[in-house]
Order: sequence, then C-alpha cells, then structure tokens
Amino acid sequence: AKKSGRNGFRFYLPCMNEEALERLRIENALRQALARSEFMLHYQPQVDLGDGAITGVEALLRWQHPEMGVVAPDRFIGLAEETGLIVPIGMWALQSACAQGKAWNDWRAAHGQPPLRMAVNLSARQFTQPDLVAKVAEVLEETGLPPACLELELTESVFMNDVTQAANLLRDLKALGVTLSIDDFGTGYSSLSYLRRFPIDVLKIDRSFVNDIAVDEDDEAIVVSIIALAHNLKLRVVAEGVESREQLEYLRRHDCDQIQGYYFSRPVAPLQFEQMLRENKHL
Ligand code: C2E
Ligand code: CA
Ligand code: CA
Ligand code: CA
Repeated sequence: AKKSGRNGFRFYLPCMNEEALERLRIENALRQALARSEFMLHYQPQVDLGDGAITGVEALLRWQHPEMGVVAPDRFIGLAEETGLIVPIGMWALQSACAQGKAWNDWRAAHGQPPLRMAVNLSARQFTQPDLVAKVAEVLEETGLPPACLELELTESVFMNDVTQAANLLRDLKALGVTLSIDDFGTGYSSLSYLRRFPIDVLKIDRSFVNDIAVDEDDEAIVVSIIALAHNLKLRVVAEGVESREQLEYLRRHDCDQIQGYYFSRPVAPLQFEQMLRENKHL
C-alpha cells in the first residue's frame, strides 16, 4: 500500500476528523497485531528488601510492530480498553505470562530456588467480563502454574463500578488461590474502606510518589503512610519506579517490603530475564 502523501491515497470520509481516523487506524492495527502474534511480554523483577533476592516478576505488554518497532503500552492500552480489544489481548498476556512463569519455576525448582510470583495486569474492562474467573482458572490449569504463584494487579477503578459485583468477583478470584494486588496505589479516587472489605494482599505504591523521595516532603509522607497503612492491614507493600540508591535506602529504612524499578532492572525480554535468574542477581 502507498504511503499517504500530500495528495493522499488515504481513505478519508469528510465527517471524520483526523483523530477519529487515527483511532480507527490503530484499532485495525491492534486487531491485526493480535491475529499476527505481534504482541510480546517483557519482564521486570521485583526484589525483596530483606534479602535482596528476586521474588517476583511483572509481565508488561509490548507490541512488536513490523515498521514502528517496539511500541510501549501507553501508546495503545487506552485504545485497546475503549474498543474492548484489551479483553482478548489481556487474556493472551495472562496465558503467556503463566506459561512463562511455570517454565521459570520448573527451572528454579531444579536448581533449589524458591518459586517466583508472576504478576499480570488486569484492566478494569476485563472485570466486566462475566467469564473472567473461569478463564483465569482455565489458564492456571492449562499452564500448570500454581495459583499461589499468580498475582493479579488491579487498579482502584475496579472499585468504582458496581461494588457488589466487584466484591463477588474478587472473592471468587481469591478462592482460586491467586494473590490480588492494587496497582498505582494512591492515585485513585476510591474510598480506602475497600481495603478492609475486599480480599487484597498487596499495595503497589505509585511511582509518582516514589519519584519524589528526597525531593518532596509531602510525597515522602505519603510513601511512609502507605507503608504503615499496608502493614496495619497485614498487606505486603511494593514500591514501583525505584530509580536511585537514595530512594531504595529510604524505602528500606521505612520498612517497605519489595521494590521494582530501573535501579535494579528495566523490564527486559525473556532471555535477559533468564540471564538474571542464572546469575542469581541480587540487590
Ligand atoms: P504499570 O502496570 O504501572 O507498570 C509499570 C510501568 O512503569 C511500566 O511501564 C514499567 O516499564 C515502568 N517502570 C518500571 N520501573 C520504572 C522506573 O524505575 N522508572 C520509570 N520511569 N518507569 C518505570 P510500561 O511497561 O510502559 O507499561 C505502562 C502501563 O501499561 C502499565 O503500567 C500498565 O498500566 C499498562 N500495561 C502493561 N502491560 C499490560 C497488560 O498486559 N495489561 C494491561 N491491562 N495493562 C498493561
Ligand atoms: Ca502493574
Ligand atoms: Ca503501576
Ligand atoms: Ca509529586
């Protein structure tokens, strides 16, 4: 196909503005990407501040576009959510991450190392799917990943829809034996009461707060408060976006459980992650 030039070969309806066209273009491209297996996962380690060992890993979606190269999720997740394509894309991610987690844990078991927890993002849109729990159960069964090794990352937005429905869903997911974590904690607008009412296991402190450690006293106060809140509720707390030694030490001093961030490692392709496992990389 010709590139659209000045006299454009581009398909154009006068009622559509450029933005609508762009969206349509991306939506079609996303559909194709799924059909052509252009999605892949990168993996970012989560490290324990106690012994410095890798204890978990978050799976992060990437789109390997034939012309654009690797496209980061911020550029397509929003649209995938609006169009509903996040549902099949998210299921693909869950399935791949669990299969990968199973393979890595088998290797670790053979080398006398404890299993890793595999963290997978679930979008709010996936929460409106009536068969979500059945699908998660099916993936666990098919891949053989023990439920205790799967951590589902949700955002606070899931508590803003139908609260009863969310409560039932979380209870059913929890009953599978998986771990539930709240992503980007502190950025949502929902009430804190859900932490008591729902079976949450982990809080992930949003990186905007971590970013300003040693810069902004208010953000430091928020970080310390979230850690205290988590521990009072018997939840584990993970700080994301840790980029410096200074941030790391601050979090350690304030008793944060785990960190994730560029300081230890960026999200990397599976082969690079395996390299870290083989080296038994520690903080
Ligand atoms: P997130 O779930 O909050 O993931 C963490 C993001 O922070 C990742 O961006 C990661 O690369 C980035 N990050 C990690 N450490 C650092 C650091 O030290 N500094 C900075 N500046 N950034 C750091 P990424 O991979 O671009 O993903 C962006 C967002 O896209 C994710 O944010 C998540 O909301 C969404 N996403 C990614 N994969 C999936 C998926 O499979 N399903 C769904 N629904 N959303 C996904
Ligand atoms: Ca996440
Ligand atoms: Ca996050
Ligand atoms: Ca700030």
